[in-house]
Amino acid sequence: MEIVFLGTGSAWCTPEYSCDCAICAKMNQMGEERTRTSILIKGEESILVDCGPDLRIQMKANRFKRPDAVLITHEHGDHYLGMDDLLVFRRSTPVDKWNPIPVYATEEAWKAIEIRFGYLLGTLIEKRIASPGARLEGLHAKITPFKTFHGPSAPGSVGYVYEADASGADFKLVYTSDFMRIEDEPSILMEPDILIIQANWLNEPEFNRPHHMSFQSAMQYIRTWKPRKATYLVHISDMDHVPGDPGNNFMKKIPPESPLHEPGSGEPYPIPRCHDEWQKVVDRISAQYELPYPIFPARDGLKVVC
Ligand SMILES: [Zn+2]
Ligand SMILES: [Zn+2]
Repeated sequence: MEIVFLGTGSAWCTPEYSCDCAICAKMNQMGEERTRTSILIKGEESILVDCGPDLRIQMKANRFKRPDAVLITHEHGDHYLGMDDLLVFRRSTPVDKWNPIPVYATEEAWKAIEIRFGYLLGTLIEKRIASPGARLEGLHAKITPFKTFHGPSAPGSVGYVYEADASGADFKLVYTSDFMRIEDEPSILMEPDILIIQANWLNEPEFNRPHHMSFQSAMQYIRTWKPRKATYLVHISDMDHVPGDPGNNFMKKIPPESPLHEPGSGEPYPIPRCHDEWQKVVDRISAQYELPYPIFPARDGLKVVC
């Protein structure tokens, strides 16, 4: 099976349009773009996890066909507003061959999705409920949602554990969605083969108002869950303070609470601006903080064969 990273950016893509902060400027200089975070799992079934407003661009870039199911992590626009674009698959299917695409989300998330996309129900999509702790019904793969805390504006937020017995080998993927913490971590999260986790910032901000995960905070989950093969970082934004950058005055920039620093020296790690800088700083932190698990910032279009 294969995991395709369709998008790895934050809610407004990274770099953000109209932003000239040091991070966006560097990414523009490098020609890098992270579209809204989403993955495609290509196993016995093809499963799309989140479909944000960049879905059409992501479909074209990765040439994928109608997914067998869609999993929605939560009711924020960057995670479901591309649903209407799935209509292209229906429009080009012979009239007697179409079955609606099952879309899984929690009851709370459906309240928002149904207001926006109620007109798609029964024709393009079929409403399926994702209940934390209960295996999703109607799929071959064993997929179990788990509750994540992503603040009061997304009470329906969940991550998903995907377990499949592809080619005779057990495999477990933990996909965490946007989140700040998890209450009552279920044991199913332990020792996945692959962990996909947010790194909205490198450093935990003073005020975590959008309720996202920073790499600094993610380190505790990586240590506890012990991903066996690799961790991939997604939903990477431009919200870290880069020392000396006038863009630090922008509304979205929040100072770090206590920036990650080299053990002993107190010297903060440089804020990564582009993909290579992310990989370098993550490698340094992993080595100096003895995280014995390979960690990679993902990038759009990355394919991982599992
Ligand atoms: Zn998001
Ligand atoms: Zn969100």
